Amino acid sequence: KSPTVPNVDGSVNNTEEDDEEDGVELAANSLLNKLIRQSLVESSHRVEVLQKDPSSPLYSVKTFEELRLKEELLKGIYAMGFNRPSKIQEMALPMMLAHPPQNLIAQSQSGTGKTAAFVLAMLSRVNALELFPQCLCLAPTYELALQTGRVVERMGKFCVDVQVMYAVRGNRIARGTDVTKQIIIGTPGTVLDWCFKQKLIDLTKIRVFVLDEADVMIDTQGFSDQSIRIQRALPSKCQMLLFSATFEDSVWQFAERIIPDPNVIKLRKEELTLNNIRQYYVLCRSRKDKYQALCNIYGGITVGQAIIFCQTRQNARWLTVEMMQDGHQVSLLSGELTVDQRASVIQRFRDGKEKVLITTNVCARGIDVKQVTIVVNFDLPVNQAEEPDYETYLHRIGRTGRFGKKGLAFNMVEVDKLPLLMRIQDHFNSNIKQLDPEDMDEIE
Ligand code: ADP
Repeated sequence: KSPTVPNVDGSVNNTEEDDEEDGVELAANSLLNKLIRQSLVESSHRVEVLQKDPSSPLYSVKTFEELRLKEELLKGIYAMGFNRPSKIQEMALPMMLAHPPQNLIAQSQSGTGKTAAFVLAMLSRVNALELFPQCLCLAPTYELALQTGRVVERMGKFCVDVQVMYAVRGNRIARGTDVTKQIIIGTPGTVLDWCFKQKLIDLTKIRVFVLDEADVMIDTQGFSDQSIRIQRALPSKCQMLLFSATFEDSVWQFAERIIPDPNVIKLRKEELTLNNIRQYYVLCRSRKDKYQALCNIYGGITVGQAIIFCQTRQNARWLTVEMMQDGHQVSLLSGELTVDQRASVIQRFRDGKEKVLITTNVCARGIDVKQVTIVVNFDLPVNQAEEPDYETYLHRIGRTGRFGKKGLAFNMVEVDKLPLLMRIQDHFNSNIKQLDPEDMDEIE
Protein backbone atom coordinates (compact mmCIF):
# COMPACT_ATOMS: atom_id res chain seq x y z
CA LYS A 1 0.00 0.00 0.00
CA SER A 2 1.39 3.35 -0.98
CA PRO A 3 1.83 6.11 1.62
CA THR A 4 -0.83 8.79 1.89
CA VAL A 5 0.00 12.05 0.18
CA PRO A 6 -2.12 15.16 -0.08
CA ASN A 7 -4.21 15.73 -3.17
CA VAL A 8 -3.93 18.82 -5.28
CA ASP A 9 -6.39 20.52 -2.97
CA GLY A 10 -4.44 19.53 0.14
CA SER A 11 -6.84 16.79 1.17
CA VAL A 12 -5.82 13.19 1.54
CA ASN A 13 -7.14 9.94 0.10
CA ASN A 14 -6.98 7.11 2.48
CA THR A 15 -8.99 4.11 1.56
CA GLU A 16 -9.20 4.21 -2.19
CA GLU A 17 -7.61 1.12 -3.67
CA ASP A 18 -4.82 3.03 -5.29
CA ASP A 19 -2.72 1.24 -7.84
CA GLU A 20 -1.24 4.41 -9.19
CA GLU A 21 1.82 6.08 -7.85
CA ASP A 22 0.81 9.11 -5.86
CA GLY A 23 2.97 11.64 -7.71
CA VAL A 24 1.45 10.41 -10.94
CA GLU A 25 -2.01 10.67 -9.46
CA LEU A 26 -1.31 14.24 -8.38
CA ALA A 27 -0.29 15.23 -11.89
CA ALA A 28 -3.29 13.39 -13.32
CA ASN A 29 -5.65 15.30 -11.03
CA SER A 30 -4.09 18.53 -12.07
CA LEU A 31 -4.49 17.68 -15.73
CA LEU A 32 -8.08 16.62 -15.16
CA ASN A 33 -8.75 19.98 -13.53
CA LYS A 34 -7.41 21.74 -16.58
CA LEU A 35 -9.33 19.60 -19.04
CA ILE A 36 -12.66 20.23 -17.38
CA ARG A 37 -12.11 23.85 -16.39
CA GLN A 38 -14.28 26.18 -18.39
CA SER A 39 -13.98 29.40 -16.50
CA LEU A 40 -12.22 31.17 -13.70
CA VAL A 41 -12.64 29.94 -10.13
CA GLU A 42 -13.91 32.70 -7.90
CA SER A 43 -12.70 33.49 -4.43
CA SER A 44 -14.05 35.96 -1.92
CA HIS A 45 -10.72 36.20 -0.13
CA ARG A 46 -8.31 39.05 -0.50
CA VAL A 47 -5.05 38.53 -2.28
CA GLU A 48 -2.16 38.63 0.21
CA VAL A 49 1.02 40.23 -1.05
CA LEU A 50 4.47 40.14 0.49
CA GLN A 51 6.82 42.43 -1.36
CA LYS A 52 10.53 41.90 -1.67
CA ASP A 53 10.90 45.61 -1.07
CA PRO A 54 8.02 46.68 1.19
CA SER A 55 8.72 50.36 0.62
CA SER A 56 8.13 50.22 -3.14
CA PRO A 57 4.63 51.16 -4.25
CA LEU A 58 2.22 48.31 -4.86
CA TYR A 59 0.46 48.43 -8.19
CA SER A 60 -2.62 46.54 -9.15
CA VAL A 61 -4.52 46.73 -12.41
CA LYS A 62 -8.20 46.49 -13.18
CA THR A 63 -7.83 46.34 -16.94
CA PHE A 64 -5.45 44.73 -19.40
CA GLU A 65 -4.95 48.10 -21.14
CA GLU A 66 -3.19 49.48 -18.09
CA LEU A 67 -0.43 46.95 -18.65
CA ARG A 68 0.68 48.62 -21.89
CA LEU A 69 1.06 45.34 -23.68
CA LYS A 70 2.03 44.86 -27.28
CA GLU A 71 -1.01 45.35 -29.49
CA GLU A 72 -0.93 41.78 -30.83
CA LEU A 73 -0.82 40.36 -27.33
CA LEU A 74 -3.79 42.42 -26.16
CA LYS A 75 -5.67 41.17 -29.20
CA GLY A 76 -4.82 37.59 -28.23
CA ILE A 77 -6.13 38.12 -24.71
CA TYR A 78 -9.42 39.55 -25.92
CA ALA A 79 -9.74 36.80 -28.51
CA MET A 80 -9.63 34.33 -25.61
CA GLY A 81 -12.64 36.09 -24.14
CA PHE A 82 -10.85 37.65 -21.18
CA ASN A 83 -12.38 40.98 -20.26
CA ARG A 84 -10.41 41.90 -17.17
CA PRO A 85 -7.61 40.44 -15.08
CA SER A 86 -8.55 37.79 -12.55
CA LYS A 87 -8.05 38.50 -8.88
CA ILE A 88 -4.58 37.02 -8.78
CA GLN A 89 -3.67 38.61 -12.11
CA GLU A 90 -4.58 42.09 -10.83
CA MET A 91 -1.66 41.91 -8.42
CA ALA A 92 0.66 39.49 -10.20
CA LEU A 93 0.74 41.03 -13.68
CA PRO A 94 2.18 44.44 -12.72
CA MET A 95 4.95 42.69 -10.79
CA MET A 96 5.64 40.20 -13.53
CA LEU A 97 5.78 42.88 -16.22
CA ALA A 98 7.75 45.45 -14.18
CA HIS A 99 11.07 46.90 -15.29
CA PRO A 100 13.47 45.71 -14.10
CA PRO A 101 11.84 42.26 -13.93
CA GLN A 102 10.86 40.98 -10.50
CA ASN A 103 10.80 37.43 -9.24
CA LEU A 104 7.56 35.99 -7.98
CA ILE A 105 6.20 33.09 -5.99
CA ALA A 106 2.44 32.78 -6.38
CA GLN A 107 0.01 30.38 -4.82
CA SER A 108 -3.67 30.02 -5.55
CA GLN A 109 -5.93 27.10 -6.26
CA SER A 110 -6.16 25.80 -9.78
CA GLY A 111 -8.44 27.75 -12.07
CA THR A 112 -7.61 31.19 -10.71
CA GLY A 113 -5.58 32.39 -13.69
CA LYS A 114 -1.95 31.57 -12.90
CA THR A 115 -1.16 29.93 -16.23
CA ALA A 116 -2.68 32.75 -18.21
CA ALA A 117 -0.61 35.18 -16.14
CA PHE A 118 2.77 33.61 -16.74
CA VAL A 119 2.04 32.90 -20.39
CA LEU A 120 1.31 36.60 -20.74
CA ALA A 121 4.60 37.40 -19.05
CA MET A 122 6.53 35.09 -21.35
CA LEU A 123 4.87 36.41 -24.47
CA SER A 124 5.43 40.01 -23.51
CA ARG A 125 9.13 39.51 -22.86
CA VAL A 126 9.92 37.44 -25.88
CA ASN A 127 11.61 39.00 -28.88
CA ALA A 128 10.14 37.39 -31.98
CA LEU A 129 13.05 38.51 -34.13
CA GLU A 130 15.62 36.67 -32.07
CA LEU A 131 15.69 33.02 -33.00
CA PHE A 132 16.82 31.21 -29.88
CA PRO A 133 15.14 30.04 -26.64
CA GLN A 134 14.33 32.99 -24.38
CA CYS A 135 11.65 31.66 -22.07
CA LEU A 136 11.79 28.33 -20.27
CA CYS A 137 8.85 26.77 -18.48
CA LEU A 138 9.13 23.58 -16.43
CA ALA A 139 6.06 21.37 -15.97
CA PRO A 140 5.67 18.00 -14.21
CA THR A 141 4.41 15.94 -17.17
CA TYR A 142 4.24 15.98 -20.94
CA GLU A 143 0.47 16.38 -20.85
CA LEU A 144 0.67 19.38 -18.52
CA ALA A 145 3.41 20.91 -20.65
CA LEU A 146 1.15 20.50 -23.67
CA GLN A 147 -1.74 22.25 -21.92
CA THR A 148 0.46 25.23 -21.16
CA GLY A 149 1.74 25.22 -24.73
CA ARG A 150 -1.83 25.40 -25.98
CA VAL A 151 -2.38 28.54 -23.91
CA VAL A 152 0.78 30.06 -25.39
CA GLU A 153 -0.50 29.28 -28.85
CA ARG A 154 -3.95 30.74 -28.23
CA MET A 155 -2.80 33.86 -26.44
CA GLY A 156 0.04 34.32 -28.88
CA LYS A 157 -2.15 33.81 -31.92
CA PHE A 158 -1.36 37.29 -33.23
CA CYS A 159 2.27 37.23 -32.15
CA VAL A 160 3.37 35.74 -35.43
CA ASP A 161 6.91 34.41 -35.42
CA VAL A 162 6.79 33.46 -31.73
CA GLN A 163 6.99 29.70 -31.46
CA VAL A 164 6.86 26.99 -28.82
CA MET A 165 8.88 23.82 -28.53
CA TYR A 166 8.38 20.91 -26.14
CA ALA A 167 11.34 19.47 -24.29
CA VAL A 168 9.70 16.22 -23.30
CA ARG A 169 10.63 12.59 -23.48
CA GLY A 170 10.07 11.24 -26.96
CA ASN A 171 10.73 14.54 -28.69
CA ARG A 172 14.14 13.71 -30.05
CA ILE A 173 16.23 16.46 -31.55
CA ALA A 174 19.53 15.73 -33.22
CA ARG A 175 22.51 16.99 -31.28
CA GLY A 176 23.83 20.21 -32.74
CA THR A 177 20.42 21.27 -34.06
CA ASP A 178 19.94 25.01 -33.97
CA VAL A 179 16.85 25.52 -31.82
CA THR A 180 15.16 28.67 -33.08
CA LYS A 181 11.93 28.53 -31.07
CA GLN A 182 11.70 31.24 -28.43
CA ILE A 183 9.59 29.46 -25.81
CA ILE A 184 10.55 26.06 -24.44
CA ILE A 185 8.15 24.11 -22.26
CA GLY A 186 9.29 20.81 -20.84
CA THR A 187 9.81 18.39 -18.01
CA PRO A 188 12.90 18.84 -15.82
CA GLY A 189 14.73 15.66 -16.89
CA THR A 190 14.51 16.32 -20.61
CA VAL A 191 15.24 20.03 -20.25
CA LEU A 192 18.36 19.17 -18.26
CA ASP A 193 19.37 16.78 -21.00
CA TRP A 194 18.77 19.34 -23.74
CA CYS A 195 20.75 21.98 -21.88
CA PHE A 196 23.76 20.12 -20.56
CA LYS A 197 24.17 16.94 -22.55
CA GLN A 198 22.90 17.90 -25.97
CA LYS A 199 23.61 21.61 -25.67
CA LEU A 200 20.47 22.52 -27.58
CA ILE A 201 19.54 25.34 -25.20
CA ASP A 202 21.85 28.04 -23.95
CA LEU A 203 20.55 28.76 -20.46
CA THR A 204 22.53 31.98 -20.21
CA LYS A 205 20.18 33.50 -22.80
CA ILE A 206 16.97 32.72 -20.90
CA ARG A 207 15.04 35.81 -19.77
CA VAL A 208 12.03 34.24 -18.12
CA PHE A 209 12.11 31.01 -16.14
CA VAL A 210 8.80 29.56 -14.98
CA LEU A 211 8.37 26.65 -12.61
CA ASP A 212 4.74 25.60 -12.79
CA GLU A 213 2.85 23.22 -10.50
CA ALA A 214 5.60 23.30 -7.90
CA ASP A 215 3.58 21.11 -5.53
CA VAL A 216 3.27 18.35 -8.11
CA MET A 217 6.88 18.85 -9.11
CA ILE A 218 8.38 18.27 -5.66
CA ASP A 219 6.27 15.17 -5.33
CA THR A 220 7.99 13.56 -8.27
CA GLN A 221 11.29 11.84 -7.64
CA GLY A 222 14.26 13.84 -8.84
CA PHE A 223 12.37 16.83 -10.21
CA SER A 224 13.34 19.24 -7.41
CA ASP A 225 17.04 18.59 -7.83
CA GLN A 226 16.88 18.72 -11.60
CA SER A 227 14.95 22.01 -11.47
CA ILE A 228 17.52 23.49 -9.11
CA ARG A 229 20.37 22.43 -11.39
CA ILE A 230 18.66 24.18 -14.29
CA GLN A 231 17.96 27.29 -12.25
CA ARG A 232 21.59 27.53 -11.09
CA ALA A 233 22.74 27.87 -14.69
CA LEU A 234 20.46 30.82 -15.47
CA PRO A 235 21.83 34.36 -15.64
CA SER A 236 21.22 36.47 -12.55
CA LYS A 237 19.05 38.94 -14.47
CA CYS A 238 16.69 36.19 -15.60
CA GLN A 239 13.20 36.60 -14.21
CA MET A 240 12.15 33.62 -12.08
CA LEU A 241 8.55 32.73 -11.40
CA LEU A 242 7.10 29.86 -9.39
CA PHE A 243 3.48 28.75 -9.18
CA SER A 244 1.69 26.29 -6.97
CA ALA A 245 -1.89 25.38 -6.17
CA THR A 246 -1.06 24.47 -2.58
CA PHE A 247 1.55 25.64 -0.14
CA GLU A 248 2.58 23.13 2.46
CA ASP A 249 5.94 23.73 4.13
CA SER A 250 7.75 21.48 1.67
CA VAL A 251 6.61 23.53 -1.31
CA TRP A 252 7.52 26.72 0.46
CA GLN A 253 11.01 25.49 1.30
CA PHE A 254 11.56 24.47 -2.29
CA ALA A 255 10.22 27.79 -3.59
CA GLU A 256 12.59 29.75 -1.37
CA ARG A 257 15.54 27.65 -2.50
CA ILE A 258 14.86 28.16 -6.16
CA ILE A 259 13.51 31.73 -6.42
CA PRO A 260 15.86 34.47 -5.19
CA ASP A 261 14.45 37.71 -3.73
CA PRO A 262 10.85 36.93 -4.54
CA ASN A 263 7.65 38.85 -4.19
CA VAL A 264 5.00 36.53 -2.81
CA ILE A 265 1.33 36.48 -3.73
CA LYS A 266 -1.23 34.21 -2.12
CA LEU A 267 -4.92 33.77 -2.63
CA ARG A 268 -6.54 31.57 -0.05
CA LYS A 269 -8.97 28.95 -1.15
CA GLU A 270 -12.66 29.40 -0.64
CA GLU A 271 -13.60 27.28 2.36
CA LEU A 272 -16.25 24.60 2.16
CA THR A 273 -19.12 24.65 4.60
CA LEU A 274 -22.08 22.44 5.38
CA ASN A 275 -24.28 25.44 6.19
CA ASN A 276 -26.32 25.33 3.03
CA ILE A 277 -26.74 21.57 3.03
CA ARG A 278 -29.61 19.65 4.55
CA GLN A 279 -28.18 16.38 5.74
CA TYR A 280 -30.09 13.14 6.31
CA TYR A 281 -29.27 9.56 7.12
CA VAL A 282 -31.08 6.31 6.53
CA LEU A 283 -30.41 3.33 8.72
CA CYS A 284 -29.89 0.14 6.70
CA ARG A 285 -29.13 -3.51 7.38
CA SER A 286 -27.20 -4.44 4.23
CA ARG A 287 -25.90 -3.25 0.92
CA LYS A 288 -29.13 -4.37 -0.77
CA ASP A 289 -31.03 -2.43 1.83
CA LYS A 290 -28.98 0.68 1.13
CA TYR A 291 -29.76 0.29 -2.53
CA GLN A 292 -33.48 0.03 -1.83
CA ALA A 293 -33.34 3.18 0.28
CA LEU A 294 -31.50 4.94 -2.50
CA CYS A 295 -34.21 3.97 -4.99
CA ASN A 296 -36.92 5.21 -2.66
CA ILE A 297 -35.22 8.54 -2.26
CA TYR A 298 -34.59 8.77 -5.94
CA GLY A 299 -38.18 7.96 -6.76
CA GLY A 300 -39.57 10.09 -3.96
CA ILE A 301 -38.16 13.46 -4.75
CA THR A 302 -37.58 15.33 -7.93
CA VAL A 303 -33.89 15.16 -8.38
CA GLY A 304 -31.89 17.08 -10.87
CA GLN A 305 -28.58 15.35 -10.84
CA ALA A 306 -26.98 13.24 -8.18
CA ILE A 307 -23.48 12.16 -7.26
CA ILE A 308 -23.17 8.93 -5.33
CA PHE A 309 -19.98 8.20 -3.43
CA CYS A 310 -18.79 4.71 -2.65
CA GLN A 311 -15.80 3.83 -0.57
CA THR A 312 -14.36 1.18 -2.86
CA ARG A 313 -14.21 0.61 -6.58
CA GLN A 314 -15.86 -2.72 -6.08
CA ASN A 315 -18.90 -1.16 -4.41
CA ALA A 316 -19.06 1.51 -7.07
CA ARG A 317 -19.09 -1.09 -9.81
CA TRP A 318 -21.76 -3.14 -8.06
CA LEU A 319 -23.99 -0.13 -7.61
CA THR A 320 -23.53 0.97 -11.20
CA VAL A 321 -24.66 -2.40 -12.49
CA GLU A 322 -27.67 -2.51 -10.13
CA MET A 323 -28.84 0.93 -11.15
CA MET A 324 -28.34 0.27 -14.85
CA GLN A 325 -30.34 -2.95 -14.60
CA ASP A 326 -33.13 -0.92 -13.05
CA GLY A 327 -33.08 1.38 -16.04
CA HIS A 328 -31.29 4.39 -14.62
CA GLN A 329 -28.88 6.41 -16.70
CA VAL A 330 -25.71 6.31 -14.68
CA SER A 331 -22.05 6.71 -15.30
CA LEU A 332 -19.12 5.46 -13.31
CA LEU A 333 -16.12 7.62 -12.63
CA SER A 334 -13.32 5.53 -11.28
CA GLY A 335 -9.59 5.59 -10.78
CA GLU A 336 -9.14 2.88 -13.40
CA LEU A 337 -10.04 5.28 -16.19
CA THR A 338 -7.44 7.33 -18.01
CA VAL A 339 -7.45 11.06 -17.42
CA ASP A 340 -9.06 11.65 -20.82
CA GLN A 341 -11.79 9.14 -20.06
CA ARG A 342 -12.42 10.75 -16.67
CA ALA A 343 -12.64 14.16 -18.29
CA SER A 344 -15.16 12.89 -20.79
CA VAL A 345 -17.31 11.22 -18.09
CA ILE A 346 -17.38 14.49 -16.17
CA GLN A 347 -18.14 16.46 -19.32
CA ARG A 348 -21.07 14.22 -20.19
CA PHE A 349 -22.42 14.54 -16.68
CA ARG A 350 -22.07 18.29 -16.81
CA ASP A 351 -23.94 18.38 -20.08
CA GLY A 352 -26.75 16.48 -18.40
CA LYS A 353 -26.33 13.37 -20.55
CA GLU A 354 -26.35 11.28 -17.37
CA LYS A 355 -28.37 12.06 -14.29
CA VAL A 356 -26.35 10.02 -11.84
CA LEU A 357 -22.61 9.89 -11.35
CA ILE A 358 -21.22 7.09 -9.23
CA THR A 359 -17.71 7.50 -7.98
CA THR A 360 -15.04 6.70 -5.42
CA ASN A 361 -13.10 9.37 -3.54
CA VAL A 362 -10.10 10.00 -5.63
CA CYS A 363 -11.46 11.14 -8.92
CA ALA A 364 -14.20 13.39 -7.67
CA ARG A 365 -11.93 15.66 -5.66
CA GLY A 366 -12.08 19.27 -6.52
CA ILE A 367 -14.62 18.67 -9.21
CA ASP A 368 -17.45 21.00 -8.61
CA VAL A 369 -20.54 20.27 -10.51
CA LYS A 370 -22.81 23.13 -9.69
CA GLN A 371 -26.04 21.69 -10.94
CA VAL A 372 -25.91 18.69 -8.60
CA THR A 373 -28.84 18.77 -6.23
CA ILE A 374 -28.19 15.69 -4.17
CA VAL A 375 -25.12 13.96 -2.90
CA VAL A 376 -25.35 10.45 -1.53
CA ASN A 377 -22.78 8.79 0.66
CA PHE A 378 -23.51 5.20 -0.19
CA ASP A 379 -20.69 4.41 2.23
CA LEU A 380 -19.48 6.76 4.94
CA PRO A 381 -15.94 7.97 4.33
CA VAL A 382 -13.48 6.33 6.70
CA ASN A 383 -9.70 6.22 6.86
CA GLN A 384 -7.48 3.18 7.11
CA ALA A 385 -7.99 3.02 10.86
CA GLU A 386 -11.76 2.90 10.22
CA GLU A 387 -12.11 6.32 11.82
CA PRO A 388 -14.44 8.85 10.22
CA ASP A 389 -12.71 10.81 7.47
CA TYR A 390 -14.09 14.28 8.18
CA GLU A 391 -12.07 15.97 5.47
CA THR A 392 -13.51 13.71 2.79
CA TYR A 393 -17.04 14.08 4.16
CA LEU A 394 -16.72 17.84 3.84
CA HIS A 395 -15.26 17.57 0.35
CA ARG A 396 -18.02 15.31 -0.86
CA ILE A 397 -20.98 17.31 0.32
CA GLY A 398 -19.74 20.75 1.32
CA ARG A 399 -20.19 23.81 -0.84
CA THR A 400 -18.54 27.16 -0.77
CA GLY A 401 -20.68 29.54 1.23
CA ARG A 402 -20.87 32.38 -1.19
CA PHE A 403 -20.92 30.68 -4.54
CA GLY A 404 -22.60 27.38 -3.74
CA LYS A 405 -26.26 26.62 -4.06
CA LYS A 406 -28.35 24.85 -1.46
CA GLY A 407 -28.12 21.10 -1.52
CA LEU A 408 -29.33 17.83 -0.06
CA ALA A 409 -27.10 15.09 1.29
CA PHE A 410 -28.06 11.53 2.19
CA ASN A 411 -25.99 9.07 4.16
CA MET A 412 -26.71 5.38 3.88
CA VAL A 413 -25.64 3.95 7.19
CA GLU A 414 -25.43 0.32 8.23
CA VAL A 415 -26.43 -0.12 11.86
CA ASP A 416 -22.90 -0.85 13.05
CA LYS A 417 -21.66 2.34 11.36
CA LEU A 418 -24.05 4.61 13.23
CA PRO A 419 -21.40 5.68 15.80
CA LEU A 420 -19.28 6.94 12.88
CA LEU A 421 -22.11 9.09 11.67
CA MET A 422 -22.67 10.49 15.15
CA ARG A 423 -19.00 11.45 15.32
CA ILE A 424 -19.25 13.19 11.97
CA GLN A 425 -22.28 15.08 13.20
CA ASP A 426 -20.47 16.15 16.37
CA HIS A 427 -17.33 17.07 14.53
CA PHE A 428 -19.15 19.52 12.26
CA ASN A 429 -21.58 20.51 14.96
CA SER A 430 -24.35 20.08 12.43
CA ASN A 431 -27.62 18.26 12.41
CA ILE A 432 -27.99 15.04 10.39
CA LYS A 433 -31.64 13.97 10.53
CA GLN A 434 -32.79 10.39 10.43
CA LEU A 435 -35.07 9.61 7.53
CA ASP A 436 -37.61 6.86 7.09
CA PRO A 437 -36.98 5.80 3.50
CA GLU A 438 -40.63 4.79 3.15
CA ASP A 439 -41.74 8.30 3.96
CA MET A 440 -40.17 10.93 1.77
CA ASP A 441 -42.55 13.62 2.99
CA GLU A 442 -40.12 14.15 5.83
CA ILE A 443 -37.70 15.84 3.47
CA GLU A 444 -38.25 19.53 3.86
P1 ADP B 1 -4.62 28.23 -13.20
O1 ADP B 1 -3.33 28.23 -13.94
O2 ADP B 1 -4.57 29.00 -11.92
O3 ADP B 1 -5.20 26.86 -13.02
P2 ADP B 1 -5.72 29.27 -15.66
O4 ADP B 1 -4.80 30.34 -16.06
O5 ADP B 1 -5.59 27.96 -16.36
O6 ADP B 1 -5.67 29.04 -14.07
O7 ADP B 1 -7.21 29.83 -15.81
C1 ADP B 1 -8.34 29.05 -15.53
C2 ADP B 1 -9.41 29.29 -16.58
O8 ADP B 1 -9.82 30.64 -16.56
C3 ADP B 1 -8.94 29.01 -17.99
O9 ADP B 1 -10.02 28.45 -18.70
C4 ADP B 1 -8.54 30.39 -18.52
O10 ADP B 1 -8.69 30.45 -19.92
C5 ADP B 1 -9.53 31.28 -17.81
N1 ADP B 1 -8.99 32.62 -17.50
C6 ADP B 1 -7.75 32.93 -17.05
N2 ADP B 1 -7.63 34.26 -16.87
C7 ADP B 1 -8.81 34.81 -17.20
C8 ADP B 1 -9.33 36.16 -17.22
N3 ADP B 1 -8.60 37.21 -16.86
N4 ADP B 1 -10.61 36.33 -17.62
C9 ADP B 1 -11.38 35.28 -17.99
N5 ADP B 1 -10.96 33.99 -18.00
C10 ADP B 1 -9.70 33.76 -17.61
